[in-house]
Amino acid sequence: MPERGLLIVLSGPSGVGKGTVRKAIFESPDNDFEYSVSMTTRQKRPGEVEGVDYYYRTREEFEALIAEGKMLEYAEYVGNYYGTPLDYVNQTLDEGKDVFLEIEVQGAKKVKEQVPDGVFIFLTPPDLTELKSRIVGRGTDQLDVIEKRMEIAKKEIEMMTLYDYAVVNDSVPLAVEKIKQIIKSEHLRVDRV
Ligand code: 5GP
Repeated sequence: MPERGLLIVLSGPSGVGKGTVRKAIFESPDNDFEYSVSMTTRQKRPGEVEGVDYYYRTREEFEALIAEGKMLEYAEYVGNYYGTPLDYVNQTLDEGKDVFLEIEVQGAKKVKEQVPDGVFIFLTPPDLTELKSRIVGRGTDQLDVIEKRMEIAKKEIEMMTLYDYAVVNDSVPLAVEKIKQIIKSEHLRVDRV
């Protein structure tokens, strides 16, 4: 049986650019992580694709999967469920491949409780005011949603202490390089080999 892969968890406040950094990692030619596609009850945004960006499900379907123990973690975020299907993660780790999750902080906390030897990376904004303009600049959310996201973000930053690494997202290519270096180093740790 191959050595089990690493579970890599990228998290951080809303609007910090987790999705952009994750996409850049998966677009890079030397990437060898497997992305765990999340499940959500939120509406599909223009350009998003079922099974690529998310698995889109109703609340009833999502709650049934929770009840069956099929989610590694899930969280309610701005009125919708988001979660990580368990079977894909387990099977892929068993095949010896590294699995990459990009999730919000409540979910990351739950993963930390269940998989303490995962690699937990917190993506931080250069500062909070810039975070607000980035959320507003994205232009897809209403003002009340933006305010809610900001409140959540402040609490999320206080949660940084749960993580193994903090990466400031002042440049996407640099953040990508730092994350790749972190994973390379993790594979070389004496307590893993
Ligand atoms: P969005 O609606 O902008 O795609 O995502 C909203 C938030 O949900 C982001 O912070 C994203 O990282 C997070 N998210 C995406 N998938 C999951 C998941 O499977 N579990 C959890 N806990 N959060 C997720």
